[in-house]
Amino acid sequence: MKLNDPRLLRQHAYVNGKWTQGDGGREEAVVDPATGETLGHIPWLEAEQIRGAVDAAEAAFVHWRALRADERCERLLAWYDLIQANREDLATIITMEQGKPLPDARGEVEYGASFVRWFAEEGKRTYGETIPSHIPNAALGTLKEPVGIAALITPWNFPLAMITRKAAAALAAGCPVIVKPAGETPFSALALAELAERAGIPAGIFNVVLGEPAEVSQLLCAEPRVKALSFTGSTRVGRLLLEQSAPTVKRVSMELGGNAPFIVGPDMDPREAAFAAVAAKFQTAGQDCLAANRILVHESIHDDFVAHFASRMAALTLGNGLEPEVDLGPLIHRQAVDKASAIVDDALSKGATLVAGDQSRAPGPNFFVPTLLTGVTPKMKVWREENFAPVAGVTAYGDDDEVIELANDTEYGLAAYVYTHDIRRIWKLLRALEYGMVSVNSAKMTGPPVPFGGVKQSGLGREGGTTGIDEYLETKYYCLGALVSVSGS
Ligand code: NAD
Repeated sequence: MKLNDPRLLRQHAYVNGKWTQGDGGREEAVVDPATGETLGHIPWLEAEQIRGAVDAAEAAFVHWRALRADERCERLLAWYDLIQANREDLATIITMEQGKPLPDARGEVEYGASFVRWFAEEGKRTYGETIPSHIPNAALGTLKEPVGIAALITPWNFPLAMITRKAAAALAAGCPVIVKPAGETPFSALALAELAERAGIPAGIFNVVLGEPAEVSQLLCAEPRVKALSFTGSTRVGRLLLEQSAPTVKRVSMELGGNAPFIVGPDMDPREAAFAAVAAKFQTAGQDCLAANRILVHESIHDDFVAHFASRMAALTLGNGLEPEVDLGPLIHRQAVDKASAIVDDALSKGATLVAGDQSRAPGPNFFVPTLLTGVTPKMKVWREENFAPVAGVTAYGDDDEVIELANDTEYGLAAYVYTHDIRRIWKLLRALEYGMVSVNSAKMTGPPVPFGGVKQSGLGREGGTTGIDEYLETKYYCLGALVSVSGS
């Protein structure tokens, strides 16, 4: 991997400010999904070493929580500056381990860094409140205090931003973190640790542990000294971690899977809507929890929409994300390609039509050629499951009530897109859609100032915005009694 600063490519875990090998000698190869080449190896830590990370975080917490909010802000801003200064290397690492095109990886670095800056500032605004007292001669109020050690378990699709969105909030609140990145994409997490160290974030405050996923997660969930668990990943693993966290009654936040509907009203220009749908579907090769998974188009413009979608999709270039002009990289591994094929086969066997998607054109074993299906119905897997691949399924609908019912026909509730200029339809859909986030006439919806999160089985809690830091804060109520009242009575 060619980096301007080769020290950003770390192949050790980072615990208590030290680069650490696994005591048991176990390790895992990290592979470039575009080429199949091994990029490096990471150690798997043993249980005792994971507990060592908790010991270190516990010791470091005492000092970190005692810093003034503006002092923590300064450290986080130094981290932000270093992330920005090293953005090209960080983007290269993302592209090589995750596969997304370099411009998208640069966008992820920018996005990830923006949370560090946002929460650095938010940490200074964790206000408690004054409560008008109902108790004679007493003063009542609340204090906000850090919850304690936070375990952060993150996925491979946004290997940098999914960490900073959690870690910056936790650190600003005064909590130490133990990050467990996905084994497919550990190098982004380790580069962040290197930069955190350079930024003066003390030993034990930002730790990155590596290991067998189920083993490490189980240890962190069972550990009573870990007070908060923040997870981003699949709903399947989220459910498991919720169960494992129950015995220690942790503060839990979950950013889980999505199955976003993309609704196009009859008043829309089919070309404009189709271009927006392509943008909302194919980012990160469809491996995005916000990806437009079910495209619902009014029957009056369905055929025109499909024609424009197909021609726009045909213009997308599939290839190694390091090459210029590439729009779509590979999927993360071969299993993801197999899953996408199975989803398409299932849809075709149940009556869908394949408009485009000739897999013989795939430039390598981990690539999936963008695919368009029409005639998709709720009994197909492409409707039920988050396909996490460049597979677009289109369904025609007749009226607003029907499309609301169709859009809500899923266990997921992360994000929904609505395209229409009819204000009555906008308001009706906005209120009726069972989703944590609804984006109207915009394929882009995320960023630091907004509360990101889902309802139903897409998650618990919110990241970003003015509430994201609350996931890492406790509210302590106080009652100061036996005070002399202001009036002297
Ligand atoms: P995943 O659930 O397989 O893995 C997520 C993390 O959990 C990784 O660190 C992984 O190593 C770990 N893990 C895997 N199996 C485990 C097990 N049995 N026990 C404990 N930990 C385990 O998810 P993924 O494939 O890495 O990511 C894709 C999923 O993430 C999709 O469902 C996507 O929608 C979701 N996602 C959600 C958001 C959001 O903000 N809501 C953002 C990005 C991704």
